[in-house]
Amino acid sequence: MLDLFSIFSKGGIVLWCFQSTSEIFSPSVNALIRSVILQERTGNNTFNHNALSLQYKLDNEFELVFVVAYQRILQLSYVDKFLNDVHLEFRDKYKNELQGGRHIMDFDFKASFDKVLRDCEKWAKSQPKIQMRSFEDSQKSKKTVASMIERKGEEKSKKSVKIVENKNLTNGKVEESPEAEDDVIALNRAKLAQKLASKGKKELPKKSPKSPKVERVKQPRVWELGGGARDLPALDRGTDRPADCDITPDTQLIGQMTGAIRDLEVESEESSSEDEVEHSAQPAAKKSGGMFSIFKGLVGSKALTEESMRPVLDKLQDHLIGKNVAADIANKLCDSVATKLEGKVLGTFDSVAKTVKATLTESLVLILSPRRRVDILRDCMHAKEQGRPYVAAFCGVNGVGKSTNLAKICFWLIENDMSVLIAACDTFRAGAVEQLRTHTRHLNALHPEAKHHGRKMVQLYEKGYGKDAAGIAMEAIRYANDSKIDVVLIDTAGRMQDNEPLMRALAKLIKVNEPDMVLFVGEALVGNEAVDQLVKFNQALADHSSSTNPHVIDGIVLTKFDTIDDKVGAAISMTYITGQPIVFVGTGQTYTDLKALNAKAVVHALMK
Ligand code: GDP
Repeated sequence: MLDLFSIFSKGGIVLWCFQSTSEIFSPSVNALIRSVILQERTGNNTFNHNALSLQYKLDNEFELVFVVAYQRILQLSYVDKFLNDVHLEFRDKYKNELQGGRHIMDFDFKASFDKVLRDCEKWAKSQPKIQMRSFEDSQKSKKTVASMIERKGEEKSKKSVKIVENKNLTNGKVEESPEAEDDVIALNRAKLAQKLASKGKKELPKKSPKSPKVERVKQPRVWELGGGARDLPALDRGTDRPADCDITPDTQLIGQMTGAIRDLEVESEESSSEDEVEHSAQPAAKKSGGMFSIFKGLVGSKALTEESMRPVLDKLQDHLIGKNVAADIANKLCDSVATKLEGKVLGTFDSVAKTVKATLTESLVLILSPRRRVDILRDCMHAKEQGRPYVAAFCGVNGVGKSTNLAKICFWLIENDMSVLIAACDTFRAGAVEQLRTHTRHLNALHPEAKHHGRKMVQLYEKGYGKDAAGIAMEAIRYANDSKIDVVLIDTAGRMQDNEPLMRALAKLIKVNEPDMVLFVGEALVGNEAVDQLVKFNQALADHSSSTNPHVIDGIVLTKFDTIDDKVGAAISMTYITGQPIVFVGTGQTYTDLKALNAKAVVHALMK
């Protein structure tokens, strides 16, 4: 049972609409337009909003969108076919009007629509049904409680999977016992182990796209006694120095970070691959032979099809993965480009490669461009006017640069005359509090009290180790409020995304203290791992918050950008997954190595 079917132009004019209930669907359709169609996330044709499932089809030749909505709990097997059939019917019936660009408002389409719907429902009924197994039919019904109890000394895998070893491991056979249905996974693991064992003798294992997760543990820092102020600009302050150590501030840094954060500059070669495509008609000697040059011969004069775009899309997908975009995201981006372009008619001089690349470039810029205003200085001023401190919490896995970049952000804030309280809520890792204490001393040395009317620009709120981080953050915010400190920056313990107790503790800290901004700190070095981290951090914040409107990640701090050359893909993966902006980019180990993301520069580096 369909609730809504609507056909509208990409310009927003509704050409035809059918509604079976009096429910108001515009919020759901608007959400689809805002979050999917305008955001270039059209790789998947289903979108869920509240209790509704919306499926859509784009007609790129006539710039139309076909949307069907139905209750999410329904399993309608014919919707894909129905969308396609209605699309074809509508196009065939009104081709002349659509070609003429006349968007008449009274399309008499109801009878055709009903017929297509009836045909599709009939078709669905004629399809063989996938029968669900009854409990009695399943192997589980044959299990007794006693059979499920694991006894000491009895290996589970031995019960169902027997590996018969021959002299040569490669010929080892895997036998499945009759009750092994539930242990297909164990069986597959055994097969994989055998395969790897036999492969390992001949060749080095190939790097899989999903790199195995490595538990990150911060390396203890070696004390560097008597270092004086020599390493002041370097921010790797794993431990504290003796309290009486004199600090000579690097005066060159002072004043460099006033005002808004400067934009990131990404080095790029003069000639981009677009130029290569554009100038593909030039003699071969002049061309540099970039990734797109092989497509120069593909000149289209008719509607683009998935098939004609596939070679370009595959090449682009590999290119994105090579630039460190997570494989899954690269795939989705390319699918989205295909959906957007399918059916579009190319001009005589447009090549498939150039069109596909230009569309992908546009989508990437859009993904990286913040959808909402992020102006932390203004928000700090606003909070100040309300007589409260602005609060930002930093989270992420171990060693990604949380404390270092927190200190850089703190430097930027004090350069802009904001007083800061750093809340040392990493009560877990030895040395974390001392690291922040050292930063506090150095930051105060750069902006001494005298200059700021006797006001200490940075203070540290710390309660040592082993205490409840959420409680310390709360006390720190109260202290900042009472002492009229402008900003509170909360440093939290690094945690792996799979560590349930620690993720629960982070969710608690955020729920209890309601910071203005939850910043996820992630390294630009990560590829596929970026997706896993962000999805699980967001999921944990939502799951453990016990609130209907949980506070999840609001923004990203992308660190170590100086170490990746042009492999800038993590920026795309992180923004694509969260839909949140990259607020800061860490570009080195000095307090001034903090930049704002420049979407165009990043996309240029990505596409070259
Ligand atoms: P945390 O465990 O997440 O708090 O990580 P730290 O702040 O202690 O940083 C870990 C390491 O990364 C230190 O050696 C930092 O100097 C280094 N680091 C942090 N940010 C950057 C950056 O933007 N560029 C570079 N090159 N190194 C960074």
